Amino acid sequence: MTQPLVLGTTNSGKVRELVALLAPFGIGCESLAGLAAAVEVEETGDTFAANAALKASAQAVALGRWVLAEDSGLVVPALGGAPGVFSARFAAAVAGEPREVTDARNNALLLERLAGSRGPARAAHYACHAALAAPDGRIVAVAAGTCGGLIGEKPAGAGGFGYDPLFVVPEYHRTFGELAPAVKAVISHRGRALRAILPSIASALSGPR
Ligand code: IMP
Repeated sequence: MTQPLVLGTTNSGKVRELVALLAPFGIGCESLAGLAAAVEVEETGDTFAANAALKASAQAVALGRWVLAEDSGLVVPALGGAPGVFSARFAAAVAGEPREVTDARNNALLLERLAGSRGPARAAHYACHAALAAPDGRIVAVAAGTCGGLIGEKPAGAGGFGYDPLFVVPEYHRTFGELAPAVKAVISHRGRALRAILPSIASALSGPR
């Protein structure tokens, strides 16, 4: 490999987790944050898979580099699948605002939407779809991972990012905000998707270019 893999995101929470997931395999990577040629990609897809492919392909073409992108979010069946692909901008989408909002506002809205709901009505899962694009924009591999849980009654823990302080992992009786990053890496939607796409990353980066 001549250049590090590009992570098709500027989300610092995602970058932190992806770097930690790839490092043990000797895969160096960098985020879009320091890359002037990176482009803004509108997430126009209806699915995580479509948005992951859009992001990977567009950044790969713009940068002429191998790009791993992922689209992820929280799915609450009792809310018709919301926030789903709108996870990052849940409160903005509901308010009809065009921009992304803070995690705190999204979390407050989620709690508001589930007020009065108990037990299975608070079931949720995270989903992560990853896509690997070659420097010409071709998608050469895709993978997905999910992680099931429940939405807590109030935030707990300061770890992770996004909805993590509300996402209770039943097996641990703890939120992702409370669990150690190493635990989240093993059981999370992102860890699962990443490990599934890892062989493709390894062969892409070691093969002829
Ligand atoms: P994306 O950047 O469009 O893929 O949006 C991802 C959004 O989904 C994040 O901004 C969070 O709101 C949510 N999300 C995805 N994965 C996680 C996670 O591991 N923890 C907490 N929130 C997450």
